[in-house]
Amino acid sequence: MRIILPIKTLINEAMSTSTPSCSLFLSPTQSNFTIGDNSQFISQLEEIGLIAKEISNQNDAFFTGKRYFDHISYMGCSPTVQFEPGEASNSFCHVKIHYYDRAKLVVSQIQARAPHCPNCSKPVKDWTSDTTEETINCKLCNTTSDIGEFNWRKMAGYARVFIEITDIFPKEAIPQQTLLDELNQICTTEWSYFYSCH
Ligand SMILES: [Zn+2]
Repeated sequence: MRIILPIKTLINEAMSTSTPSCSLFLSPTQSNFTIGDNSQFISQLEEIGLIAKEISNQNDAFFTGKRYFDHISYMGCSPTVQFEPGEASNSFCHVKIHYYDRAKLVVSQIQARAPHCPNCSKPVKDWTSDTTEETINCKLCNTTSDIGEFNWRKMAGYARVFIEITDIFPKEAIPQQTLLDELNQICTTEWSYFYSCH
């Protein structure tokens, strides 16, 4: 009998050391926004069915909730998504919440894109040599702007809180507008999304 495994599992098995690990991230667009009450935030994410119970032995990591597929829309007609650790692979789709004391740039190591300058709109290709933890200098128009003002074209985010949904390749799945709206309501601040691989 032939067993047909999803492509991702086959790739993981064949190249376990070099397969990129990618996630979908949700973050507030306002970079200094912070969650007031973390446990209340977690209950609200449970209530909207994005997350379920916490994964034991991991901090701030949760199984996906019962309304996961209402919130996250996969491309293609029948996605194979693994929601629990399996025999073939330990990597599975779950939700991690990250909190930071100050805004942090999460930038993809793979398929990285040059951020576009808020002043001249041009891509700043060598930004890594012209950045502080808070700003980037654009040599093209000779202005310095906050990291959060650059357009990272959905391959980076700059915030103090991130909801990471693991095991999603860039554009493999996108959050529904209703989820972003619910997050906007919970936090009374606007949320956006991006992808990051490492
Ligand atoms: Zn510029």
